[in-house]
Amino acid sequence: MTSADIVIVGGGVVGTSTAFHLAALGVRNVVLVERRHLAAGASGKSGALVRMHYTNETESRLAFESLKIFRDFAAVVGGDCGFEPVGFFQIVGRGWEASLAHNVAVQRAMGIRTEAISTEELARRLPGCRVDDVGAAAWEADSGFADPNATTFAFADAARRRGVTLRTGCTATKVVVEGGRVTGIDTTAGQIAAPVVILAPGAWAGRLLAPLGLDYPLSPYRIQVTIFRWPAGFTLRHPAIIDAIHHSWLRPEGRASTLIGVELGAGHGDPDQLDEGVDGDYVARCRQALAARLPVFGEATMRGGWAGMIMMSGDGRPIIDQIPSVDGLYAMLGDSGTSFKTAPAVGRCLAEWIVHGKPRTADLSPFRSTRFAEGHPWADEHHYGRPQGLTVSR
Ligand SMILES: Cc1cc2nc3c(=O)[nH]c(=O)nc-3n(C[C@H](O)[C@H](O)[C@H](O)COP(=O)(O)OP(=O)(O)OC[C@H]3O[C@@H](n4cnc5c(N)ncnc54)[C@H](O)[C@@H]3O)c2cc1C
Repeated sequence: MTSADIVIVGGGVVGTSTAFHLAALGVRNVVLVERRHLAAGASGKSGALVRMHYTNETESRLAFESLKIFRDFAAVVGGDCGFEPVGFFQIVGRGWEASLAHNVAVQRAMGIRTEAISTEELARRLPGCRVDDVGAAAWEADSGFADPNATTFAFADAARRRGVTLRTGCTATKVVVEGGRVTGIDTTAGQIAAPVVILAPGAWAGRLLAPLGLDYPLSPYRIQVTIFRWPAGFTLRHPAIIDAIHHSWLRPEGRASTLIGVELGAGHGDPDQLDEGVDGDYVARCRQALAARLPVFGEATMRGGWAGMIMMSGDGRPIIDQIPSVDGLYAMLGDSGTSFKTAPAVGRCLAEWIVHGKPRTADLSPFRSTRFAEGHPWADEHHYGRPQGLTVSR
């Protein structure tokens, strides 16, 4: 048996960010276990949009605190996270203009550089964009996307340099609890004793939670994306976009292609039976959604795609908590397809919670694990009318 001060389960962007931040706060004996390889889960497949626009202040704040890290990654963490600030448009339909104006005002008050713009202004700033169905848009000049694999690897490297032990090819099989307290984990390579365990296992959380009697509304979903080569004559390295009308998001991929995800609401799946390829009918829906906003893409060539697994929570928001029924157990669960961009701040908050007794970077209480049992699942007042049950991956 080996021992550690803190064990982290999961080598995705959340686990590695947490490992880095713990080490940066001076915790030395940290062990991270990953059942396959770094970024083997959702992180490696992420679209990795980095945008501040949410329909609630809490998530915007986490995204904003994370942006500060993405922008200054080499100095704060070390290495290159591949952040490209191409800018970002949030597009909403008619009837949602007031909600968008409200959300932009909240974000501006936080210090986020964002503005609400008219449909005419959107058409001017994004040539070729169809705007006849648009109510309004928000623009963020500092946002864009990152390389999710590079980000995870860089957090892991920075953690390793500060003394964290990374064990890949090592699966946690059980969280060991004695007298209501965590005492470590069992793994496929033996037991690791530790007074603190942090779970960041993405879509694979179920088998670790069930034996602890932790029954949260969590469902693994298969999420796809598709890449289209820019058609002849199209040369605009466009900003990232979330299109709330066509339930899609897109961003440049490489030097002459666009990556798009369409939110389907279907695809609940077993994370151990993941088909990593993209389905033919999904490609057709992506082409349709892309051409509905940028009509020139009606003639675009499909150049690839992939699928990954996320974990949707019952209200589409993560659970980030010190689990009240198990002393020493912390968790980030139910990433809900939006937790790449917030992972730098989430990792910092978890590290602060453990080292300082509470998170300092942001208030995590809205993410508490008990909200479902309390009958208060998360609901945004100023949303854009998303139909229930759609998955998200942006
Ligand atoms: C196609 C797609 C597009 C997306 N687009 C965006 C986007 O644009 N913006 C955004 O913010 N988010 C996006 N997301 C979501 C984002 O990628 C995830 O929310 C984020 O990566 C979750 O990180 P994580 O570390 O919590 O989980 P994961 O990356 O899934 O990591 C969990 C890790 O834990 C390991 N593991 C699990 N169980 C065990 C165990 N028992 N023992 C050891 N290891 C274990 C897994 O192998 C895995 O590597 C997207 C996701 C997908 C799939």
